[in-house]
Amino acid sequence: MKKSLSLCVDLYGCPNRCCHCWLGHMPNRTMEAGADEWIVAQFKPYFEKIDFYSWLREPDFCPDYRARWERDKALSVNAVPERFELASFWRLVRDPDYAPFLKELGVPAVQLSFSGLEETTDRYVGRKGAFRELLRATEILLNHGIRPRWQGFINEENREELAELLRLSETLDLPRRCEALGGEFRFFVHTGSCDGEARRLYPIWIRKDHIPPELIPHFLDYENLWPERELCRLRRDDPRPVVPHNGGEDLVLYVSNDYDLFFNFTHMRPEWRIGNLKTDPMDELIRRVMEEDTPALRAARAISLGELIRRYGDPASERAFDEEDYKQYLLNRYLEESNR
Ligand code: SF4
Repeated sequence: MKKSLSLCVDLYGCPNRCCHCWLGHMPNRTMEAGADEWIVAQFKPYFEKIDFYSWLREPDFCPDYRARWERDKALSVNAVPERFELASFWRLVRDPDYAPFLKELGVPAVQLSFSGLEETTDRYVGRKGAFRELLRATEILLNHGIRPRWQGFINEENREELAELLRLSETLDLPRRCEALGGEFRFFVHTGSCDGEARRLYPIWIRKDHIPPELIPHFLDYENLWPERELCRLRRDDPRPVVPHNGGEDLVLYVSNDYDLFFNFTHMRPEWRIGNLKTDPMDELIRRVMEEDTPALRAARAISLGELIRRYGDPASERAFDEEDYKQYLLNRYLEESNR
């Protein structure tokens, strides 16, 4: 039995609809009063330590975020939830009290995500004005002594724009301004994983040889990026199955706003549902979690990586993948097909 649980609940939703969203788009719905306490109470008998998060999409996407943070801490059991280097850029540009709140908590840096320049980022975030909000959020953070960190999701459509974005960060003098705050400015690009909404981006997935040279030093884990054709060649006879699992002592579980329970492996689609907190007995849900006994994981154990590649891999493709992301992409294709 694992002793420690991170419990993340989609209590409020998210203002964005990003094309790279690995969780998948879900309706925004504020859960009823008391849902947080009730959910924690279901897990308390099974874990010595629980860190509770009232969000799994956008942090602080509720007007009373100060009280919410106190409540998240109070609901946690023998643990304090982490802040991470994440915040809501939607709130940063709308609420003058928010950046001081982050500063009070000692948040040293905040990650901001781009998909290119103005028109492209607006389209990928799903909101007109998102790009300008990201630039304003950058200034607000700096004015409050918090370093912005820029992340770019790259594909064939936006690769040159991301190179321009790097130049824009230099024009805005972000490296020097972050250094003046005692840290470095981080700019990095990556593909993101190919699940959730990002699966739709497969046709325009970046080719390794199309990555602009100036972005290579900023590419996350560039050495472990493989063309799809090479992964197909190397693994086409691999007899091992692709079975994601929660490693170590810590378990992370997600709860959707209709009380469905998920692991944090991949998107929150029906085939990955562990069960429902309102309708399934808790002992049975915990058994499924601990024994990793769900329909998706049973199906995953029954097919080899080689077979997944033979069915779904493209041996002529130059698309660039991290190997683990690629395996998850193949597995999700198989599960979707099996569930049709
Ligand atoms: S990637 Fe994050 S911010 Fe974007 S839609 Fe998904 S949960 Fe919301």
